[in-house]
Amino acid sequence: MGYLTELEPAEGRRRLRVENPVDGTEVLTYPVANAEDVHAMVERARTAQQAWAQTPVKERAKRMQAALAILVEEHETFIDRLTAETGRARLDTLMIEIYAACDSMNYYSGRAPKVLRDRTVGLHLMRHKRAKLVTRPIGVVAVISPWNGPFVLSINPTIQAVLAGNAVVIKPSEVTPTAGILVEELFQRAGFPEHLVQVALGDGETGAALLESGVQKVSFTGSVRTGRKVGEVCGRNLTPFTLELGGKDAMIVCGDADLDRAAAGALFGGMMNAGQFCSAIERVYVEQSVAAPFIERLVAKAGELELGRDLGPFIFEPQADTVRRHVEDAVAAGARVLIGGEVVEDRGRGRYMGATVVTDIPDEADLMREETFGPVLALRVVEDVREAIACANDNQYGLGASVWSRDNKKAEAIARELEAGAVTINETALTYGALELPFGGVKASGIGRVNGADGLLNFSQQLPIISDRFGNKEEPVWHPYTPEKFENLQKGLRYMFGTPLRYVLR
Ligand code: NAD
Repeated sequence: MGYLTELEPAEGRRRLRVENPVDGTEVLTYPVANAEDVHAMVERARTAQQAWAQTPVKERAKRMQAALAILVEEHETFIDRLTAETGRARLDTLMIEIYAACDSMNYYSGRAPKVLRDRTVGLHLMRHKRAKLVTRPIGVVAVISPWNGPFVLSINPTIQAVLAGNAVVIKPSEVTPTAGILVEELFQRAGFPEHLVQVALGDGETGAALLESGVQKVSFTGSVRTGRKVGEVCGRNLTPFTLELGGKDAMIVCGDADLDRAAAGALFGGMMNAGQFCSAIERVYVEQSVAAPFIERLVAKAGELELGRDLGPFIFEPQADTVRRHVEDAVAAGARVLIGGEVVEDRGRGRYMGATVVTDIPDEADLMREETFGPVLALRVVEDVREAIACANDNQYGLGASVWSRDNKKAEAIARELEAGAVTINETALTYGALELPFGGVKASGIGRVNGADGLLNFSQQLPIISDRFGNKEEPVWHPYTPEKFENLQKGLRYMFGTPLRYVLR
């Protein structure tokens, strides 16, 4: 078994082979791009970008609409190719990858002409000056993506970067190269300039080379471990970067929650993509008063999920070992498995795990502390909401969280106390798809944000241009400095900020 195999090098390049996680058939064998390859790509991207920066935003948006039309028309083919590589449920691929990509293309191509246009800005103090805010591209952007949402996490930042006038080199996960190839092909077919969007296939070696290749921004999505390395290199090179990293999202089930909805929500939030998504629900804190009926519903519903139909295999084979270890270690330390917990290997060559709920887990167990990234809910019964909040916050991660209660006001008060990048109330798995809102984590879950109504500005430089209006020979504060100039400035200070005039000057 092995979905990813390193083969003998050929023509001076390392080679990797990717297999379909379900039936073991070969998906792709490819050479790993080395530092030289990556540098050449970035240079070609730089040339393409210079012309693209001159292309009017409306024209860029038109091409994005052409790409959208292709994706809508051919989405079944995209699903086939992405499913072959990930093995996951087709509905997951349609929902997580295709819907999200289409929405991003459509939404940001509508926003781009508004967000990216130059603006005249009235200055509150220097009213005698003219100011303009010009938005211009950054240059060549590196998009480095993981294997769990390989298409959307490659294409969404690319859409925003390209609309903002940048070129992009995508480094998809070595486990899911097809996703990156599909993005490059799509942009080519939609009529974007050659080399504007390129894919560099390879593993960490290629990613590390890309960071050192003179790119002007890095948009990284992946694990905390790699994110730290990326941050270090970007810090050394002074390359702007965003890090979208892992999570261990907590769900708080209050005593007044709709227990049917909460149980169904826990399962969807925990089991979508077989639990392999960054803001999956991993921890459930349920108030004692409703623990028994909630757990009964949760376990009954979990038993209805089917391998293959609802839960795909582990997309990356070694992930099965991590998940199994988390569950087994917790059990060895006294935890109880209420349902699931076994890695199943008898369906083709894939490794699956059924919907799993574990409880009575010691505090220090990895299952309670570390990102598990599998279809497992770590459940704890708590005395009250205060304990739930304390437990939820007692973790290195802070990506998402959710609160389940019939009292919206109370739920919102709890939300405000949670250390998370976003909180949902009686909802789950929505935040990455709400494009109006910034997405990202606090604590170890990341730095910076993607998306948001103005997300295009994450891939732009805002250039203020200030100019003189009246053409005087010089300004009152320019050299030489004299006692009169000092006195005049003092008078001005008292007048502007020591009188009610200050209420006008802001
Ligand atoms: P990973 O960190 O192993 O790899 C991510 C990418 O980084 C891959 O393309 C990999 O080849 C590349 N890479 C590896 N070493 C590198 C280096 N030294 N320099 C540059 N690039 C390098 O992550 P993964 O296992 O592919 O993905 C799963 C992780 O991603 C999980 O922790 C998950 O929570 C996280 N994730 C976060 C978000 C988010 O938006 N916050 C979304 C999806 C996934």
